[in-house]
Amino acid sequence: MDRPGRFLLSPFSHTPWKPQDVRVTSNNPALNLAGKALTPGAQRSWWLREALAVEKDAAPCPALNGDLKADVVIVGGGFTGLWTAYHLTQAKPDLKVVILEQDICGGGPSGRNGGFASGWWDELDGLIALYGREPAVRACRALSDSINAIGDFCQAHGVDAWFRHAGYLYAATAPQHEAVCEEIVKLAREVGAPDELRALTTEEVQARCASPAFRTGAFMKDGASVQPALLARGLRRVLLEQGVTIHEGTPVTRLDAGPPAVAITPGGTVRAPRAVLAVNAWAVGWPQLRRRLVAWSSYIVLTAPAPEKLAEIGWSGGELITDFRTSVRYFRTTRDGRIAFGGGGGRASSRIDDSFTRDTRAVEEAAEGFRRLFPSFADVPLEDAWGGPIDVSPTHLPTFGSLEPGNLYYALGYTGNGVAPSHLAGKVIADLVTDSDTDSTRLPMVNPKPRLFPPEPLRSIGAAVIRRAIIAKDTAEETGRNPNPVMSAIARMPRRMGYLLGP
Ligand SMILES: Cc1cc2nc3c(=O)[nH]c(=O)nc-3n(C[C@H](O)[C@H](O)[C@H](O)COP(=O)(O)OP(=O)(O)OC[C@H]3O[C@@H](n4cnc5c(N)ncnc54)[C@H](O)[C@@H]3O)c2cc1C
Repeated sequence: MDRPGRFLLSPFSHTPWKPQDVRVTSNNPALNLAGKALTPGAQRSWWLREALAVEKDAAPCPALNGDLKADVVIVGGGFTGLWTAYHLTQAKPDLKVVILEQDICGGGPSGRNGGFASGWWDELDGLIALYGREPAVRACRALSDSINAIGDFCQAHGVDAWFRHAGYLYAATAPQHEAVCEEIVKLAREVGAPDELRALTTEEVQARCASPAFRTGAFMKDGASVQPALLARGLRRVLLEQGVTIHEGTPVTRLDAGPPAVAITPGGTVRAPRAVLAVNAWAVGWPQLRRRLVAWSSYIVLTAPAPEKLAEIGWSGGELITDFRTSVRYFRTTRDGRIAFGGGGGRASSRIDDSFTRDTRAVEEAAEGFRRLFPSFADVPLEDAWGGPIDVSPTHLPTFGSLEPGNLYYALGYTGNGVAPSHLAGKVIADLVTDSDTDSTRLPMVNPKPRLFPPEPLRSIGAAVIRRAIIAKDTAEETGRNPNPVMSAIARMPRRMGYLLGP
C-alpha cells in the first residue's frame, strides 16, 4: 500500500534496462539498410560506443554495496541527474551528492538522442497559452542561456562533445506545413524576438541543404549540436573529479520519501534529507508520476560517412534540421560526414521494454523518411540504428519542481527535447534543493499545477489510435494527397481534449 511520505516504484518497472542490438531485416532493398540486414553493434548507440572508446577509464563506477548517508541522492544518471549534481556542486562544493544509475551514465536517452540542443522559440504558442507572454519569453531566454552554458561547460572542462552553435533549420515538406512555419515566425516577431526565428525562402532553405523535398522554412538561432554521449560522459568525468559519488549498475527499487528520503537498491540504501527523481520516461513505473507522461519511442538511423554527398547538397554549415510533421523527423550531420536521422513514428508503451530498442518497424520508418528526403544518398548505406524512450507530457513541455512531502524533486515531460532543457532543469532543481530563490526557480514551468493523461488502459489505447492517424495525415500531406477526414479528426483529438499535442 502507498502511504503518505512513501514514494514507490511499481513491481513491473523493476525490469532491468538492457539496451539490445537492433537487428533489422528489411524486405525493401531501397532502404539500403547496410545491404538488407542492419546489425548495430554492441548494445549501445553509436554515440556511446564512440564516447566509451575514447575514454581513458570507461569501467563502470561500482554498484552500491552497503548503506550510505548523503545530503542529496539523485536517481538517474542522464543529463537531468548529472546537471543537477553539477549545479549543486557549483553552488555548494561541500555537499555530499550521490547519483544512483541502473545502467551506466549516458546509457539511457542522454547518450542516444539526436544531439539537438535547441531553444523554445518554436514553442512560444504553447508557452504563451500555458503561462502568458512575458513568462514565456523569459523561459525562452533562460533556455538560450542554458545552450550557451553547455558550450561554456565544455570549454571550461576540456569536454570535446562536438558543441557547435550553428542554428536550427525548419524545412516545410508539404504545403500545409508552410502555414505552420509562418505562424511560428509571426509569433516570435509579435513577442519582440524577430531575430530569434526568421522566415526563409525556398531558395534560402535549399542553399543550406538542398533536399528536393524542402520548401520554405525558418531559421532559429538557438540551436547547437552536440555528440550527446560525449557530453554525458564528460559530465560524469567532471562530477567524479569534483567528488560526487556515482554508483552505476544500481537500480533504485523503492524510494521512501521520509524525510529523510531512503533510496533502496538491491545492494544497499542511501539516506538523504533530499532526493531527486531524474528518471525521464521511466517515471511511467512510478505510480505517483505515471499519469503525467506517455512513454513514447524514438529511433535514429545513421548513414555511412559520405562527406562528398553532403558537399553536393551544400549541407556544410552544421545546422540542425527538422520538418514540420507532427511525427517529426530530425536530422544532423556528424564530424566524419554522416547523417543521423531520427523520428517519423515511434509508439507508446506503459512500461520501458524492448519496444524502445528493438522495434524494427520504427527503424524502417526512420529509414523511409531518410530515403525520401535525401534521394541523392540512395547508394549510401544506413550502417547503424538505435532507439530509446521519450517522456511525452500533456503540454509538449517539461515541468520541474518538488513533490509531496516537499523533499523530493523532479524534472519531467521533455517530450523528446531535453538536451538543453535538462541543463536548465538541473539549475532549477539545484536552486530548489538549496532553498535559493532565483530567476530560475521563478520560471513559469516550476511547480505548475500538474496536467494529467487519462489512466491506463485508455492512455495506451488512445495513444496507439492517435499515432496511426497522425502518421496517416502526415504521409498524405507529404505525398500531395488529401488526408482522410476521419484520420485528420482523430489526429486532432488531443488538442480538442485540451492537450497541447498533435496538429
Ligand atoms: C532517439 C532519441 C532522440 C532524441 N533526440 C533529442 C534531441 O535531438 N534533442 C533533445 O533535446 N532531446 C532529444 N531526445 C530526448 C533527450 O534524450 C531526453 O529528453 C534527455 O536525455 C533527458 O535526460 P534525462 O536525464 O532526464 O533522462 P535519461 O537520459 O533517460 O536518464 C534517466 C536515467 O535514469 C535511469 N533510471 C531510470 N529508472 C531508474 C531507477 N529506478 N534506478 C536507477 N536509475 C534509473 C535510466 O537508466 C537513465 O539513465 C531524444 C530521445 C531519444 C530517445
